[in-house]
Amino acid sequence: AWGEALRPRQVLLASPRSFCAGVERAIDIVERALERWGAPIYVRKQIVHNSHVVRRLRERGAVFVEELDEVPDGATVVFSAHGVSPDVRNVAAQRGLAVIDATCPLVAKVHSEARRFADRGDTVLFIGHAGHEETEGTMGERPDSTILVENLEQAERVQVPDPSRVSYLVQTTLAVDEVEEIVQTLRKRFPLLGAPGSDDICYATTNRQWALRTVAHDADVVLVVGSANSSNSNRLVETARRLGTPAYLVDDSFDVDLDWIRGANTVAVTAGASAPSALVDDVVTALRGLGPLQVHEREVTREDIRFTLPKEVRGS
Ligand code: SF4
Repeated sequence: AWGEALRPRQVLLASPRSFCAGVERAIDIVERALERWGAPIYVRKQIVHNSHVVRRLRERGAVFVEELDEVPDGATVVFSAHGVSPDVRNVAAQRGLAVIDATCPLVAKVHSEARRFADRGDTVLFIGHAGHEETEGTMGERPDSTILVENLEQAERVQVPDPSRVSYLVQTTLAVDEVEEIVQTLRKRFPLLGAPGSDDICYATTNRQWALRTVAHDADVVLVVGSANSSNSNRLVETARRLGTPAYLVDDSFDVDLDWIRGANTVAVTAGASAPSALVDDVVTALRGLGPLQVHEREVTREDIRFTLPKEVRGS
């Protein structure tokens, strides 16, 4: 017991964590647009769902708007990493706006599957969250042939015109284990259910959940750095809680309530794909306020994915 009392608190850093390739690309696009054309550069919706990223870009001259009618004629507008529906593209084209598309290529992949499945006559069951921008964008590809399935209960009840012509797609940032259950249920009901060619839940979402599971197992409490509207960050919190470990979402170190930590010998820390890694460093620094720490990094895999930039901002 004597030794235990002197043992510094353990911090387990899940790896991979923080920025994915799609988020890095989206931020890079706005920064390059600002450099090339100067402020203001309009951005439809938050470029990525992180309050710190948005604030920093706003300070540099990005103007975030909800809809295109807030963008003046002749301006340049960036579409966010979450993607847009064809309706939004059409409005931008009609108005002659200069568009730079920061849609993550892995979101664009799901859009093209939505078109392909619907155009071959399938009803597309889109597993995702209502109101999320990615859901609106993807479902907007073929709105008349797409039905939203938000959870297991809806998977059990959803009705389609022809049960032999159904396929499913998934929002890129959902929880792997939850979606598996939903797909199993759908497959039981629709044995001919068509599936995406490769997983729609992206590599970054999958890796962050996997990394978190390995540390959450050994931790008394989990801190997930991410903003409240970040889908993949919220799924990390839920993933930890499903393992039975208390977990909290924090936007930054100021959100950390040291009372969560006081009784914990081991604290696991991760960050969603839209959260800057510097915020994780700040959180660890804040934890030092309670006494000495030993910090360990647990890497389950290494990511080396990079996406090319759109031609408008490529080059020097
Ligand atoms: Fe792309 Fe996945 Fe990152 Fe979303 S979380 S931007 S889909 S890589």
